[in-house]
Amino acid sequence: MKTSFTNCLIIGSGPAGYTAAIYAARADMKPMLYEGMQPGGQLTITTEIENFPGFPNGISGAELMEQMRRQALNFDVDMRRGTITKADFSSRPFKVWVDDDDYEEHVIEAKTVIIATGATARWLGLESESEFRGGGVSACATCDGFFYRGMDVAVVGGGDTACEEATYLAKICKKVYLIHRRDQLRASKAMQCRVMETENIIPVWNSRIVEFFGEVDKFDKVLRGIKVENIPAGEITEIAVDGVFIAIGHHPNSDVFKDQIHVDQEGYIITQGHSTQTNIPGVFAAGDIQDTQFRQAITAAASGCMAAIEAERFLLDAKD
Ligand code: NDP
Repeated sequence: MKTSFTNCLIIGSGPAGYTAAIYAARADMKPMLYEGMQPGGQLTITTEIENFPGFPNGISGAELMEQMRRQALNFDVDMRRGTITKADFSSRPFKVWVDDDDYEEHVIEAKTVIIATGATARWLGLESESEFRGGGVSACATCDGFFYRGMDVAVVGGGDTACEEATYLAKICKKVYLIHRRDQLRASKAMQCRVMETENIIPVWNSRIVEFFGEVDKFDKVLRGIKVENIPAGEITEIAVDGVFIAIGHHPNSDVFKDQIHVDQEGYIITQGHSTQTNIPGVFAAGDIQDTQFRQAITAAASGCMAAIEAERFLLDAKD
């Protein structure tokens, strides 16, 4: 089996991974970065990004990630494509197994590891939902809500995220339908109160979306509305909306690491205090894989920077 060696292995290619790579490369750590199957991560499936500083006219998610990638390549980051299949953090150098682009299994020995594999938004799984993703259907109100100002939208879910998204959207949209499959919210009491006290949030209880409809062609996607089924009765009604925000949770991409490292109940990697350090000295976690609160491109990039600086300090202290 082929073996490679690196001072710093970065796993993941969202804003956290690319930022960590830029900082680590500039610190002469000669990092190796594995991009995974969706280079650029979640941002490549969002539309325009208007809240990442430095782009006064906004930038598309895909373009922002391509720029970060090119910036990392300019510093000679060893950028590779592959899927991590196994990790062994029990001793240093750490070992990580990869299925490469050329389908050859390969082991990487790394003095430090930065895990930046992100979290994947959960979707309802309807065919019509995927047709409108990135054009009418989104999983992030802070990212995409602004495009629907003055319009009618819907949020799906009954947890804190759904309530937070609905409250945020209520400030900029005309009406916000909150579609929940039960007649009770799961969210904290404070969030529930905020939702109930907001006049333009309209709860749609015991209901699920069965279809998204509108116009889709090669160049454009325009959502016109949703068909909603009332669960006990099976009755279907149409609601006209311009955008739908799915807020039914995220899945942290930590499955290959979670028997090696401390994770919380949901699978998010636990980091220590104001740091990206995990319970294993020399293994760091950055971006959404360790963030249950903010989940923004800018916060992910910031924690990628922190992880690279912490990895550099670790290498200096370890002196090997
Ligand atoms: P949750 O798992 O708490 O809630 C998910 C919601 O989506 C539930 O209401 C669930 O319904 C619903 N749901 C799940 N699957 C489906 C489906 N297939 N179809 C329709 N509805 C579905 O996820 P959140 O992202 O809201 O929160 C995750 C964690 O992060 C929580 O611990 C939360 O407290 C925390 N958080 C905290 C915030 C804060 O403190 N400011 C902000 C955001 C999140 P059901 O209720 O029926 O199971």
